[in-house]
Amino acid sequence: MKTEIFNAKTQKENGTQYAGRVIRSGGLVAFPTETVYGLGANGLDGEAVKRIFEAKGRPSDNPLILHVAKKSDVKELWNHVPDDAKRLMDAFWPGPLTLIFVKSDKVPDEVTAGLDTVAVRMPEHKTALALIRAAGVPIAAPSANISGRPSPTEAEHVIADMDGRIDVILDGGPCRVGVESTVLTLVGRPTILRPGGITREMLEQVIGPVEVSPAVLRPLKEGEVAESPGMKHRHYAPDCRVVVAEGSWRKAASIICREYEIAEAMGERCIVLGTEQTRSCYHGMNCDIIGDRETPSSLCAELFSALRRWSGKVDVIFAEAIPAKDQGLAYMNRLLRASGFTVLTD
Ligand code: AMP
Ligand code: MG
Repeated sequence: MKTEIFNAKTQKENGTQYAGRVIRSGGLVAFPTETVYGLGANGLDGEAVKRIFEAKGRPSDNPLILHVAKKSDVKELWNHVPDDAKRLMDAFWPGPLTLIFVKSDKVPDEVTAGLDTVAVRMPEHKTALALIRAAGVPIAAPSANISGRPSPTEAEHVIADMDGRIDVILDGGPCRVGVESTVLTLVGRPTILRPGGITREMLEQVIGPVEVSPAVLRPLKEGEVAESPGMKHRHYAPDCRVVVAEGSWRKAASIICREYEIAEAMGERCIVLGTEQTRSCYHGMNCDIIGDRETPSSLCAELFSALRRWSGKVDVIFAEAIPAKDQGLAYMNRLLRASGFTVLTD
């Protein structure tokens, strides 16, 4: 299959109109959002949605998010719209927040992997919104990567994984947030199933107490049922080991320096994902400064891109843990999963 690539800025009208027709006729389109690139299909067409799973190699028990272009579209996708959802949509849509509620009959089982709930989000990215409007249907879209790999935050990443497997790629440049949306279920007590750009602290200001699924920062225990099917699967892994060092920045940096030396002595190629605060600790070592520990959003924006940059080029990536609050929760969720929970504390 030939994949057509459009520049979302210079070929704006042509690109989105063409891609909208492709979606309507059952094809697959990768498009930029403010979180990561999505791989979209007509969310009301089960056969089209199946193609997403094939192109990504995604396990068929992992449900997709439906993307809409206006808030009122949720009415046809959920059996009703709860008050908390109304408040949250007013506060955070368009934006990086996905809400889960009981689905309507209109939503195909392929989207929800057979669950009776469906995840919906209204993205903020202009190209994403233009595409959904051009398609005239909700767009089902997971991240546009081969399943298991780091999510794509630039069109180059999508091309590396999806060229020849999908119909169209809309190139909109780098994604602002860099990690996927916050996923909040409103069935039962509001619970974060996946942390993201909209933080627990921000949600609580609007609807009061919000729980965080315990599996956000640790692997599932044996026999434990995943609140979100995505928690079961290996995620975000580059083609090399990832090792996370915990503790204060001084402690984390000293663990990394020690382990780096050991790995290097064994002939392993190493890179440190450092921060502004620890830059000077890694003098003379291979180091990629990816952001500022005080501004977790800066680390979120760069993490997946950095994992892809070093994937296959080194044997081990060392990274510092940061406090799991505000956007630090999303950063630690992705970093820990990328490492397969390989954490050094001392
Ligand atoms: P992705 O499509 O890669 O952004 O992943 C979507 C995430 O949302 C996955 O972790 C899914 O398991 C989760 N998800 C989507 N729909 C539901 C749902 N109805 N119930 C629970 N989790 C969901
Ligand atoms: Mg994904």
